[in-house]
Amino acid sequence: MAELTTIEDDTAFPTLDASQLAELAEFGEEREVAAGDLLYAAGDQTYDFFAILEGEVEIVRLDADGDGIVATHPAGRFVGELNLLTGQRALLTARVTRPGRVIAVAPGEFRRLMSSKPTLADIIFGALVARREALRQGDAALALRIIGSRYSSEAMALRSFATRARLAFTWIDLEDADDVGVLLASMGVRPADTPVVISPTAVLRHPTPGEFAAHLGLTYHPTPGRIFDLVVVGTGPAGLAASVYGASEGLDTVSLDAVGTGGQAGASSRIENYVGFPNGVSGGDLTAKAAIQAQRLGAWLANPCEVSGLRLEQGFHVVELADDSEIPCRAVIVATGARYQRLAIDDLERFEGAGLYYAATDLEARLCEGSDVLVIGGGNSAGQAAIYLAQQGSRVSLAIRRPDLTATMSRYLIDRIDADDRIELLGSTEVRALEGDSHLSSVTVEHTPTGQRRQMLCPALFCFIGAEPATAWLGETVVLDDHGFIPTDRALAPEALTDPLFEQRAPLPFETSVPGVFAVGDVRSGSLKRVAAAVGEGSSAVRSVHDYLATHA
Ligand SMILES: Cc1cc2nc3c(=O)[nH]c(=O)nc-3n(C[C@H](O)[C@H](O)[C@H](O)COP(=O)(O)OP(=O)(O)OC[C@H]3O[C@@H](n4cnc5c(N)ncnc54)[C@H](O)[C@@H]3O)c2cc1C
Repeated sequence: MAELTTIEDDTAFPTLDASQLAELAEFGEEREVAAGDLLYAAGDQTYDFFAILEGEVEIVRLDADGDGIVATHPAGRFVGELNLLTGQRALLTARVTRPGRVIAVAPGEFRRLMSSKPTLADIIFGALVARREALRQGDAALALRIIGSRYSSEAMALRSFATRARLAFTWIDLEDADDVGVLLASMGVRPADTPVVISPTAVLRHPTPGEFAAHLGLTYHPTPGRIFDLVVVGTGPAGLAASVYGASEGLDTVSLDAVGTGGQAGASSRIENYVGFPNGVSGGDLTAKAAIQAQRLGAWLANPCEVSGLRLEQGFHVVELADDSEIPCRAVIVATGARYQRLAIDDLERFEGAGLYYAATDLEARLCEGSDVLVIGGGNSAGQAAIYLAQQGSRVSLAIRRPDLTATMSRYLIDRIDADDRIELLGSTEVRALEGDSHLSSVTVEHTPTGQRRQMLCPALFCFIGAEPATAWLGETVVLDDHGFIPTDRALAPEALTDPLFEQRAPLPFETSVPGVFAVGDVRSGSLKRVAAAVGEGSSAVRSVHDYLATHA
């Protein structure tokens, strides 16, 4: 048996006392177990939560490399990982090593336990979160491997998804491997198959993030006959706040995102103006915690799931997904935010994820540590990215169309950029061309007043040139303003209020031109375009959903 780093600490592995076990027993059934029994196996889509009354259970990683023990649970402990809440397929196996008795709690009862017994739920929840973090850092993460080249945009998309979803996985970079052919052959794959995902039950060749997520059980799967109270479209800060409040206030809530949880905030290395975090907070951390909180409270978060349309049918809203599935529901909160505009340059797609990035998180920073990078854009997000990349060891050129930053960036960021000799400001400058083979190698920029062009050697270009609302999927279902944002309540012009319901009452706060459909965060016309504002709107809109459901559904 291979030696794995075993994870042991009190938060991750609390021992329940007799009264806590008795409380638990109300939700499950007692079972005898024999040595060698599997409580769950890698690949299982769902499994029960188990507390051990007598005997011993090992958590093991069973794969091509052999058999390794991740943890050993004696009597008094419970078995399970964060996937009990996220719905992710099991990647490890729980095997009984000494016979005894367990309490088995089925998934539905486990959710009821988590919402009705706060003290016990706190202990269990703390353990599940701590176990996931320990798994992410230990050898157990070898149970899920992504193998590819750091220069591959396909591999980058898979890693970004896995990182945002806080999966326990191992990244194997072919550029760092001594003998690529031998490494791949040992896993039964050819170089042409990469990027490849290897899980205990499958080898996925060239998967998209959606296929990867579907394999793990994280995407939406239709449940016939179920009509949700609330569908939240988009899980940036606004959608996550709506999910937390919706689920905590008893609404049957499903939240969908085309990419992953976090939205634009998830791509921000440091948010400095979020109340209560005087030293700033990583957008990825903030939104990952909000996602777990929503799941703990009972929301179903499914992604990647792109929503492609919305219609009304027999008094219900029907949310249409790009894969042709449909979700009937009573109310919808649209929180699809805004997407970064792309440069109007030929051949752009070729470099997306292969040198051209729309986020500056730890993942991208590590790819270009120590190299020259170019950031374009004069807003706060470009400023933050430039400062962060410089702190991570890159020499940064910041190119802007205007001569200086004063009209577009907050003063505190301008001062930091001025004081940082690793950042050079290129005023009145625009990007004209990108060059490289499989990966970006240089960028041609033009100084617009003189027309002078120069080629800058740089393996990474970060693009933050303004955003446009993600509302195309709505077609003409709801009224949009001239810029494509969604006006709500008092911002709706009288001629937009064509629904007969609005003859009886005014639109509720955050309600769009369609009763029961609400819009929050950056996608809403006139919104503040800040994380705190998006969180406030998402939370508040749930109150309007309740008011709507009380009278119309
Ligand atoms: C680099 C950067 C730094 C920033 N720094 C700060 C800061 O320091 N302080 C601050 O207050 N603000 C900051 N912002 C702005 C802040 O992040 C946004 O205001 C905030 O994220 C808006 O939240 P939202 O939920 O409305 O939308 P978003 O965060 O844009 O989330 C929208 C979500 O909807 C999803 N979506 C879109 N279309 C669909 C569809 N058809 N189907 C399913 N899902 C869909 C997207 O994938 C996305 O996840 C920063 C932004 C960036 C990019």
